[in-house]
Amino acid sequence: MISPEPLEHESFPDSAHAQELRRGFPELRFAPDLERLFQSFQLRSARTRVRFFQFALGLLAIAATVKLTVLDAVPWGDVALGWLGLVIPACLVLAVVSCSRLYERLYLPASRVLLPIIATAAAFGIADRHVAGHPEPFCFLTTFSIAVFFLGGQLFREALVVNAVMVGALGIALGHAGWPAADVAYYTTELVITSAVGGFVYQGIERQLRTSFLERHLLREQVAHDGLTGLKNRGAFDDDYARLWQQAMRDRRSLAILLIDVDHFKPYNDRYGHQAGDRALRHVAQVVQRCARRPLDVAARYGGEEFLVALYDLRAEAVREIAEELRASIQGLAIEHDDSPAGVVTASIGVSIVSPRQGRSPEGAVQLADEALYAAKQGGRNGIRLVDCFGVNYSTGAFRRSA
Ligand code: GH3
Ligand code: MG
Ligand code: MG
Repeated sequence: MISPEPLEHESFPDSAHAQELRRGFPELRFAPDLERLFQSFQLRSARTRVRFFQFALGLLAIAATVKLTVLDAVPWGDVALGWLGLVIPACLVLAVVSCSRLYERLYLPASRVLLPIIATAAAFGIADRHVAGHPEPFCFLTTFSIAVFFLGGQLFREALVVNAVMVGALGIALGHAGWPAADVAYYTTELVITSAVGGFVYQGIERQLRTSFLERHLLREQVAHDGLTGLKNRGAFDDDYARLWQQAMRDRRSLAILLIDVDHFKPYNDRYGHQAGDRALRHVAQVVQRCARRPLDVAARYGGEEFLVALYDLRAEAVREIAEELRASIQGLAIEHDDSPAGVVTASIGVSIVSPRQGRSPEGAVQLADEALYAAKQGGRNGIRLVDCFGVNYSTGAFRRSA
């Protein structure tokens, strides 16, 4: 069988997901922001298991209390603190949280506190009953130990803490009840081994879960980005642009579209070769990316040697300045091009500024930028042309007219 190639994360040096994959997260923790996302993801995927676990635990606690008080005739006062005061309320809280809308926010903090409490009370309760001559099954503790790992919805480290607390509580409870040291050692070792088996398998599962979480996100990033330049690709741009258009329409803001086309690029390839052409495109792309500084701005490779930038809510002078700076920076890269009048690689930029409204289309704004670009090319290249339609009606069709 052919094993799948690992995802190519070297071409995404800025991706947080690629960085974590490279690092290998030996301590089973991501950087804080990513860790929060992962925990939400893992809680969502564990939700059915968690509900089952918490309801089963709650029913078991109620059954144990009924058995103690009704069948074994233990006085209510003796079960009041452990079972009625701690275990049953803790189980109920966790069951309710696992069904509530606040599950993703509350379950982990609640389980960090309440599962160790349940584990401690159960260890003491079972040790107590042994002493009173009612051998309660120790297998409850071993089952609980495994279930915390696989059903409890916690991460490896937290589940390990619950297990450690339970082992400690059992040792103390048995020692406190005067059990011979050899028996205490035997029963606690049994529980330690069970926890170790559960923990060993579960940490492998969590590592796998974390890896596939990162790879899925990286794959999404790869699908949205252009392989050559690392900029967003046309599809990702279209999605962002549609959202931006809606937002600008709601907020009555302007949108500027910059369409950038490298000049005389066919002759560049013909003279310097396709590889050199690719390198030049990468350099130009880096400069283009720098234009989209603010959170809502988008830069993308439109196709071939063409790039697109959408700038949100900027006045015409600011847009013109950015476009001019971009043109000058591309020229300033000083990539030799002997078949270009400038002697270096340059680009022409068509800019449209529009006010998105009902009846106007996002494609129309790009079409306007395309027509401006056409005018920039006609005007001798290595220049910018800007059409400012903010607040006025516009129609496209320069190509039709010129045709
Ligand atoms: P103009 O100044 O009018 O824009 O002329 P031009 O030569 O740049 O325009 P034209 O559309 O004739 O040629 C574009 C060239 O861009 C043709 C193609 O070989 C090159 N190109 C497109 N994509 C890539 C790419 O990914 N790598 C390389 N090296 N070249 C590319
Ligand atoms: Mg072109
Ligand atoms: Mg070109």
